[in-house]
Amino acid sequence: MSVHSLRGFRDLLPADARLFASIEAAARETFALYGYQELRIPTIELKELFVKSTGDTTDIVEKEMYAFTDGGGREVAVRPEGTPGVVRAYIENNLGQTGRNGKYFYIGNMFRAERPQAGRFREFEQIGAEHIGNASPHADAETITMLVRLLEKVGVSGCSVVLNSLGCGECRKTYREVLLAFLRSRAEKLCEPCRGRIERNPLRALDCKLDGPALAETAPKLTLCPACAEHFSRTQELLKISGVKHEVNPSLVRGLDYYTRTVFEVRSSALGSQDAVCGGGRYDDLVKSMGGPAAPAVGWAVGVDRMAMLLQDKTAADNSPEAFVVAASKDAGNKAFELTTALRNFPGGPISADFSSFELSLKSQMRSADKSGASFALIIGEDELKAGTVTIKPLKEKGDQFTVPVADAPSRLKQLLKD
Ligand SMILES: [Zn+2]
Ligand SMILES: [Zn+2]
Repeated sequence: MSVHSLRGFRDLLPADARLFASIEAAARETFALYGYQELRIPTIELKELFVKSTGDTTDIVEKEMYAFTDGGGREVAVRPEGTPGVVRAYIENNLGQTGRNGKYFYIGNMFRAERPQAGRFREFEQIGAEHIGNASPHADAETITMLVRLLEKVGVSGCSVVLNSLGCGECRKTYREVLLAFLRSRAEKLCEPCRGRIERNPLRALDCKLDGPALAETAPKLTLCPACAEHFSRTQELLKISGVKHEVNPSLVRGLDYYTRTVFEVRSSALGSQDAVCGGGRYDDLVKSMGGPAAPAVGWAVGVDRMAMLLQDKTAADNSPEAFVVAASKDAGNKAFELTTALRNFPGGPISADFSSFELSLKSQMRSADKSGASFALIIGEDELKAGTVTIKPLKEKGDQFTVPVADAPSRLKQLLKD
């Protein structure tokens, strides 16, 4: 057989993996600053969880979900997004009672069977935040501010926020009828999937990639009830206080069923176009509709690939060793192995060290030393072995090699690395 990865799946080789890890580290720092705690949720859940929360009229659930029947005859699915799992965990573990503040973040891989295209993968990493149990506009403004701060910390430039309010169930009740009547009147102009789902979820047509742009111009607009209007204007006021650049776009819908009130997207000047980097919104009814307590919530998710793609500087700190140890013979090899251990355990601060194979030729070991990116090679040849010494040779900067007693090598090297 020939080994190869599945279509739409890829390897993250060390340079990319380092970049992803540095983005994750920036995210963790940002979350700590805002009092968010990590939640690790399962990769596989009952399929019903996603059908009921993400929504059975969404592309994610309708077309893109990896769902199958497991050995026990259960209908399960590999998570296409993080929010449903977080909500389930919140309900199942009674976090509304036992949790600290309802603020959670997750970092994990999601799976969607999208048609593979440039920059899109079927397994992709998302970083997400959910603030559950807080209806106040402060929660909206805080989480949006945190997202912008994270993007800027990572290095995504020129971020601005586009937002809208989808209102609550109350303001949507009448709007749904008005919108449905409008969509029915022009059903023959809509795409096939929209025609099939307008009765179940008329709002989805506004978010359709094909029909959305035309409908945004012509479709009747939602009028917010007084409570929703106040929530929306306060959210904007608080964003202003946070210093977050934002504008309102009444046609912003976002493609998920559970959104209520605030929905938002972040755009970057690096992308230029209308394309959003990421987004999120409020979902005040989801926890309750999934069988939990009444717990209004707001959250967002961002793709790590998307962030990585937008970075000007894609070089994350390299983890090359500081020292590369080389030996000239089998006996010298044991001494060199001992020295490698002493470097890593140095009480004055560990020195990262590597070696190739002490049984290869000196020339081949030196080639590996050059390739390793190490700053210094530490060489134990026949002479050094007899004298109990080691030769230290700079690899990156010009400078003469010199010989020191093996016991002194770690402290001398530490000094050189500091200079
Ligand atoms: Zn309302
Ligand atoms: Zn459509």
